[in-house]
Amino acid sequence: MTTELTSEGRLLAVARTLDRCAVLGPGQRAVIWVQGCPLRCGGCVAAETLPFAEPGTGRPVAELVDWLAGLPGIDGVTLSGGEPFAQAEALTELLDRLAERRPGLSTMAYSGFPLAALRRGSPAQLALLERLDLLVDGPYQAARHADLRWRGSSNQRIHALTPRHAEVLTEPDTSAGLQLSVGLDGSVSWAGVPAVPGFRAELERRLAAGGFELRPADPAPHPSGGTP
Ligand code: SF4
Repeated sequence: MTTELTSEGRLLAVARTLDRCAVLGPGQRAVIWVQGCPLRCGGCVAAETLPFAEPGTGRPVAELVDWLAGLPGIDGVTLSGGEPFAQAEALTELLDRLAERRPGLSTMAYSGFPLAALRRGSPAQLALLERLDLLVDGPYQAARHADLRWRGSSNQRIHALTPRHAEVLTEPDTSAGLQLSVGLDGSVSWAGVPAVPGFRAELERRLAAGGFELRPADPAPHPSGGTP
């Protein structure tokens, strides 16, 4: 995918963001779910993030960096989706600009492509790989769904690309759980990797029965940080 450039600079197609998350990587992390994925894994838990041409999802990288740099108390940023490596140029720029503004944050990404394939990828994809501490790779395979840390199926692997989080490879490998958020308007959102298949459909069914609607955690970043 070619990254869009405008008068505001490079744009990243973003499905949603979350200021603080404790279930998608080590410590407290901001999360960006990018919009668009070329894969179609059966049972994908983020089906709304798959189309690339979703109007209104393009956000200036500079604006996202401002948001991340101003978030209090986070240890790192996790890039999920959608497929982060489909927007490698914009995400590489984002991580580079963030490192200048706020050095020391750890970096993690998900990809539906195996690490070996990414290492044979485009220069932009290789550049993004070089900027990551952790990668969770491989497509979701519903038949191999398991109770695993930060990932949904047993074919998916956690790769420590730098020594920074090498300890995660020897820590207990069970689900980190889910994070539920209730907005001031009563809306409910969640983040994390369900330990059981079919979780989202069942949650949506139960919420609908109670008059609630599941919605993205935060459709737009908060420039000044804080909880949505
Ligand atoms: S790679 Fe991830 S976002 Fe893409 S279809 Fe598979 S599970 Fe869904």
